[in-house]
Amino acid sequence: ATEVEYEIIGKNEVLPMYKPREKYTHKGTYGHSLLIGGSYGKIGASILATKASLKIGSGLATAYVPKCGYIPLQTAVPEAMVLTNSEEYIADISYKIEPNAIGVGVGLGTEKETVDAFSKFLDSNKLPLVVDADGLNILSENKKLLKKLPENSILTPHPKELERLIGVWKGDFDKLKKAKAFSKKYTCVLIIKGANTITLFNGKVYINTTGNPGMATAGTGDVLTGVITGLMAQGYDSLSAAIFGVYLHGRAGDMVVEQVGYQSLMASDILEALGDAYIDLF
Ligand code: AMP
Ligand code: MG
Repeated sequence: ATEVEYEIIGKNEVLPMYKPREKYTHKGTYGHSLLIGGSYGKIGASILATKASLKIGSGLATAYVPKCGYIPLQTAVPEAMVLTNSEEYIADISYKIEPNAIGVGVGLGTEKETVDAFSKFLDSNKLPLVVDADGLNILSENKKLLKKLPENSILTPHPKELERLIGVWKGDFDKLKKAKAFSKKYTCVLIIKGANTITLFNGKVYINTTGNPGMATAGTGDVLTGVITGLMAQGYDSLSAAIFGVYLHGRAGDMVVEQVGYQSLMASDILEALGDAYIDLF
């Protein structure tokens, strides 16, 4: 019984997911993304994720950052709104806005107060979350918190973050088995990032075909978090947002690498190419 039910994800598989824009709509139609993260020295992660949520089509975006992120955010992403908290890292997560999707964790840091704030936030939050980076690291260090994740949340670990979540594995088959068990236990979509990113949900495996080694560079994961959050804000369900987001992010990377080359590719270049990835669908 070593059989794995899987699907290879290319353009033909994602096209039916695509939601076209209708004429008589306004920004409210396309949802409000909230990106919670950032800490002193890691505000760039919030900038990348927030900008990505808008670039992928979210109608509105708010960045929730510590105060030291206020000016950088407003300068780098004038389209976004900014909510701030204590000085250098997030020590409380509370707001009056009503976002349609929430991405949490990029650049967040793992200060004790941040961990407590995240834990308290999980007690009241009901929206499925996109959790990445230090959000995942906090969950790994405090496994009890995993049970507080709303159903259909999306976790986006790179290999090291995955190891912290599910433990060490022996070979690819064992990795998949452990990852599947994890996704089932917490009813979450698990995105295992890397070359041929794999998305797991409900016992099924989706293997992405876009992306390239030029994307092995700082900040690309933060862009992915914003992409997936921005798709959720537009009403894509968790699994579609994960599969479509991973596809578009990789396709943008493939398109831009032809212009800049593998070594020079930067996360901001992927951001700029997200529109091309959409256009390339048709
Ligand atoms: P992170 O490590 O969180 O910054 O995420 C890295 C991003 O780049 C993920 O979306 C990965 O799937 C992607 N990536 C990293 N290395 C490769 C690779 N060798 N081939 C394709 N995509 C990659
Ligand atoms: Mg990352």
